[in-house]
Amino acid sequence: APAPLFAGPKGDIDVSFEFFPPKTEKMSEKLWSSIERLEPLGPRFVSVTYGAGGSTRERTHETVKRIVEETSLTPAAHLTCVDATREEVQEVAREYWDAGVRHIVALRGDPPGEGQCFAPHPGGYANAAELVAGLKEVADFDISVAAYPECHPEALSFEADLDHLLRKIDAGASRAISQFFFDPEPFFRLRDALAARGREIELVPGILPVSNVAQTRKFAGMCGAEIPEWMAERFEGLDDTPQARELVAATIAAELCGQLYAGGVRHFHFYTLNRANLSYAICRLLGVKPQ
Ligand code: FAD
Repeated sequence: APAPLFAGPKGDIDVSFEFFPPKTEKMSEKLWSSIERLEPLGPRFVSVTYGAGGSTRERTHETVKRIVEETSLTPAAHLTCVDATREEVQEVAREYWDAGVRHIVALRGDPPGEGQCFAPHPGGYANAAELVAGLKEVADFDISVAAYPECHPEALSFEADLDHLLRKIDAGASRAISQFFFDPEPFFRLRDALAARGREIELVPGILPVSNVAQTRKFAGMCGAEIPEWMAERFEGLDDTPQARELVAATIAAELCGQLYAGGVRHFHFYTLNRANLSYAICRLLGVKPQ
């Protein structure tokens, strides 16, 4: 049999998947068919993002609870500091704990509009480090936080960003999931900087399988990630050929995973955008099979 391209022959790769809560019945069907498709791959956890505003938040809770009730998956609920008091956030966390949810992805969250600055709620947490500490007061959650290989847009410097990540770890986070990126070097630089500070923490790369460059460029602009020129070039002229675009997308993401694997990474977190196909194909290229 041919040697697998990137796979650890020992089946030594863990994956996890991120979803967002659906807004409509149609989106809900798409999400649940994606979850069904990805579940047999045995992810370590699946996470559900948290938006601004009441109804969006309800949808996160509902999605997480349905994962607990209807699947064998381990859910991770995202939670932010936006527009809520400390007590309100702790109450949400307590409800999750009571529902059997043990893993929280703790985030500060973004300001409501583009170009605005984040302003904490008067009675709320000012940043993710404070949130992590507050969650640990509620219960002994397994907590993941966000990390930025190419620096958070608000960071004063790489060192300041690293210091803030260390504060989140010191507050009780056990894992950091990275913003998406397409060049592995900044990821390795961040991992090495963490190791140099003597912190034992799992740094998990967030993999965004891209098949729409224009949309990704817009999103990347907001969160400080770079779209390299070579990537845009590979997609050039493929707007009307979705199948070719998907193949290119899977190959690019698998190449990145291969580079990360060669550098020692064994856990990959996929931003699925509620679509199963690309993440499923990339997992197969990594040797992750239905169990
Ligand atoms: P923090 O870590 O608190 O701060 C972000 C940056 O600001 C730091 O890196 C640091 O540079 C600077 N900073 C903050 N406080 C200080 C301080 N006291 N001193 C010095 N510097 C400081 N957003 C959502 O709304 N919902 C989600 O579900 C969601 N999921 C995400 C999942 C992942 C894996 C990632 C990477 C991001 C996610 N986001 C989500 C986006 C996130 O909310 C934004 O990137 C937000 O701007 C920062 O959140 P944070 O938790 O990284 O904040």
